[in-house]
Amino acid sequence: MMTNQVRLIDEFTKLVAIDSPSFHERQMGDYVKSRLTDLGLLVIEDAAGELIGGDCGNIYGFLNGNIDRKPLLFCAHLDTVEPARGKQAVLGGDGVIRSKGNTVLGADDLSGVAAILEALTVIVEKNVPHGPVEVLFTVAEEAYCKGSAVFEFAKLASDEAYVLDLQGPVGTAAYMAPSILAFTAAIKGKAAHAGFAPQKGIHAIAAAADAIAMMPMGRIDEETTVNVGTITGGLASNIVPDRCVVKGEVRSLSHDKAAKQAALVRRQFERAASAAGAGLDFELMTASEAYETPLDHPVARRFEAACNALGLPVSFIKTFGGSDNNVLAQNGITGIVLANAMRNIHSCEEFTTVEELSRIADLILLLMTAER
Ligand SMILES: [Zn+2]
Repeated sequence: MMTNQVRLIDEFTKLVAIDSPSFHERQMGDYVKSRLTDLGLLVIEDAAGELIGGDCGNIYGFLNGNIDRKPLLFCAHLDTVEPARGKQAVLGGDGVIRSKGNTVLGADDLSGVAAILEALTVIVEKNVPHGPVEVLFTVAEEAYCKGSAVFEFAKLASDEAYVLDLQGPVGTAAYMAPSILAFTAAIKGKAAHAGFAPQKGIHAIAAAADAIAMMPMGRIDEETTVNVGTITGGLASNIVPDRCVVKGEVRSLSHDKAAKQAALVRRQFERAASAAGAGLDFELMTASEAYETPLDHPVARRFEAACNALGLPVSFIKTFGGSDNNVLAQNGITGIVLANAMRNIHSCEEFTTVEELSRIADLILLLMTAER
């Protein structure tokens, strides 16, 4: 039992032609809702759109099973990064599918959406025995997983998940991902004329520079990094700046290590602000929380068996990026992130191939129809 390559490429091409930048997934949401409904799934859109300021909610679908197996969740995100307006999939003679060059392709993550839809289509059309399947198409994943973060996980039946959202050859899966802590340090100094009375001012940028010079930065150890990404402040060359805002992040495969580095960052801002007599407003946001799925867990074993059946080499990796799987893990669902036929993501050189798209669709079909 295999998926239909022509139909799959056609589906992917249709999806790419629908604009769905983060927070503007309405059209895409309507499209996948109608596809899932036509396939006979129970379909629900949640309130994520209103909750996060977008125009579309997360789309949930349920297909009852006809073999005795626990339900499995398949997850992919509907939004794409910019530039994403007017996307078009162009299939080359070499079997490579690219954008026209002025936008991303959106294979991140529409190749995952297409694979899930095609696998469901085969199951329904050919009446293939399958376990209960839950589908979750999320919104605003590219904005630190804002959509999945507000999904009501208590409504899910599954406690195992496959998230399609990873680069690399199909057969690759991530079982470990980092905590990402985003920080914003706002230093409040005092303005003064830089020529007449600099001594009357409190230099917010100098205080920020002091903190940044002394804080941890770059690669801390094999699994931990710290970065300052932006710094803004000051009004004019002749004014002692009264405000400086520094934004950055800490990332680690160990949540404790991330928290420790974030504390060190905070301590340097506190020290520097206090030394300068400035005020400080320090905010820390958990953008994602680390997880590790044991490789002997059934969710990993089932994936391995499906890859073996397709003759795909299996590779379990640690990823240094967050995904919806971080949010699932926080909600008690054990999952892995599957490579789903996307390359050079977040760039206009993004591409996929007919061969890889077919592989991920076949793999999803096998997982949905697996007996255990
Ligand atoms: Zn993605």
